[in-house]
Amino acid sequence: MSDAEIGLIGLGTMGSNLALNIAEHGYKIAVFNRTASRTDEFMKDAGPLAKKIVPCYSMEELAKAIKPPRPVILMVVAGPVVDEQIGLLRQVLAANDIIIDAGNADFNDTRRRFKELEGSGLTFIGMGVSGGEEGARHGPSIMVGGAESSWKRVKKVLTAISAKYEGEPCAAWLGTDGAGHFVKTIHNGIEYADMEMIAEIYGVMRDGLGMKPKEIGKVFDKWNGGRLNSYLIEISGKVLAAVDPKTKKPVVDIILDRAGQKGTGKWSAIEAQKLGVPATGIEAAVAARVISSMKAEREAAAEVYGKPKKAKVDDPAALLKDLELALFAGKIAAYAQGFAVMDAASATFGWELPLPTISKIWRAGCIIRSQFLGQIADAFSAGKVKNLMMAPDFVKMMKQSNPALRRVVAFSVENGLPVPALSAALAYFDGYRQARGTANMIQGQRDFFGAHGFERIDAKGAFHGPWTAV
Ligand code: NDP
Repeated sequence: MSDAEIGLIGLGTMGSNLALNIAEHGYKIAVFNRTASRTDEFMKDAGPLAKKIVPCYSMEELAKAIKPPRPVILMVVAGPVVDEQIGLLRQVLAANDIIIDAGNADFNDTRRRFKELEGSGLTFIGMGVSGGEEGARHGPSIMVGGAESSWKRVKKVLTAISAKYEGEPCAAWLGTDGAGHFVKTIHNGIEYADMEMIAEIYGVMRDGLGMKPKEIGKVFDKWNGGRLNSYLIEISGKVLAAVDPKTKKPVVDIILDRAGQKGTGKWSAIEAQKLGVPATGIEAAVAARVISSMKAEREAAAEVYGKPKKAKVDDPAALLKDLELALFAGKIAAYAQGFAVMDAASATFGWELPLPTISKIWRAGCIIRSQFLGQIADAFSAGKVKNLMMAPDFVKMMKQSNPALRRVVAFSVENGLPVPALSAALAYFDGYRQARGTANMIQGQRDFFGAHGFERIDAKGAFHGPWTAV
């Protein structure tokens, strides 16, 4: 019977929760999963929502269960599996049906798929979804890319299931083809930087100030009531407060110091490099995860070089106060970089990414949600600025917070505490606000060895130096 309003393929962590969210909002949904037993389990766990869900055991059955024109969400692992699923869907769908890839696709793949489906009668949407399992179930942030006309056809259901910030849905159409997946990628890149800087600040408290997890957790809880208020600070406090039932030790102390990654952080750094936009906070965060994964090498190096001497702290209270402001300044720089990457991508890919809207749909539902994003939305809504750090309110915030960042980075460097993302943020700020930089020296060197020429400050044109041979 074709009476489902939407379909979904892939009942893994994200897909099953998204399907329940859709059903809970009153939409009848047809679902299909490669492994049939998962579909059965899902139906058993769906409780009263099962009456809004049609379990299907083949693509054909799924297509028959949905009212045409059919929107079908793909929530499977990113990569070639998505191409396979699109291939299979092409055999059972008809003109005007919409395939929505809601996984973490590489936006380059989304652009390719968009092109491949052009002229097939089918429409393609690349949709970034953020918020993890909880977000998928109760309201994620949804970043849509594709034809605006396709968005209009699915807008009702997608805005219904999205997170709401003071009543405003955190779902929006951001541009054609890969725009949604690109924005999701940068969201994740910023998330990497945010998480890394929080971890670095935790490290300064643990190894610089000798604080215990519970105490550090309390500091994060306090900060969550102020300018750093955000989901990531909130959960950091909770992670630090948790106790392992087996050993009765703080859970954070028994977790291996090795973090994995699935690729979106790396993609952000790569795309930023391709676009020629510095995203050093994101790059530092990706590199820090890679270093974290080199556990055996790090242990061997620790044997060779020994531990840094115990830090001497003259005024722990002052350092603690600095840490909050330092994290805030680092955050401003990292977000400035992420938004600058999106701005550059707009020009390159012809998207006109709406920066105020992006900040708004990140205010709830997603992992980097925070009150800070409201301030970013206000700054971008007030008028176009080249860089977030040049928006008047952010100038004030950066002036207030950068000295603390400098002191924290100096303290960490002095005491051998690695703070790669915080120091990258500081170096970015210092480089950005330096009117007379040092690239004159680079230009001199380039002209010396490669006759690349240089520009002069006092005349137009290309010049060569009066170099003497070595
Ligand atoms: P899971 O591993 O929980 O689920 C993967 C799904 O993909 C399952 O339904 C699985 O089916 C299906 N699948 C895997 N391989 C194939 C294949 N060869 N053919 C058909 N189906 C296949 O993943 P998630 O739900 O966590 O992630 C899904 C997507 O969402 C990914 O792109 C991920 O990056 C993205 N995402 C994940 C988030 C998260 O927090 N987990 C947050 C935001 C986005 P089967 O049961 O048969 O194995």
